[in-house]
Amino acid sequence: MGDPGIRTFTGRCDCGGVRYRIDGPVRNIIECHCEPCRRISGHHLAATAVANGHLHLESQETLAWYQRTPTVRYGFCSACSSTLFWRADDKADRTSVFAGTLDGPTGLVATEAICASEAGDYYHIDPDLDVQAGDRALEIPY
Ligand SMILES: [Zn+2]
Ligand SMILES: [Zn+2]
Repeated sequence: MGDPGIRTFTGRCDCGGVRYRIDGPVRNIIECHCEPCRRISGHHLAATAVANGHLHLESQETLAWYQRTPTVRYGFCSACSSTLFWRADDKADRTSVFAGTLDGPTGLVATEAICASEAGDYYHIDPDLDVQAGDRALEIPY
């Protein structure tokens, strides 16, 4: 398992309308292959997670939220359509941050794939990951 460690990360959407900084510990990367993540990302999502107090939105003028269910929402840029964040009411103290929006090198490691049973049939999930057919808890365990 990658040791998340405490350091500063920065990230942004493609157009830069949404910029963020992380100054606290982050989790290793978990891939989610569930159908909503597949459709919203166009493939699958890979995310770290951080306590909200360590996530600082330095620019959010174009940040919008797609309320997927009454308790789950995805944060995206309304200008360039980058998908950046995921939040769930039952994990209200944390935000999942989509790994592809981080500035590299991240030094982070993907360790797990969840909802593998819902993955698209056109690719193979890395067998070196801890692959789980379902969602362990409620959707993504972030
Ligand atoms: Zn943007
Ligand atoms: Zn998902």
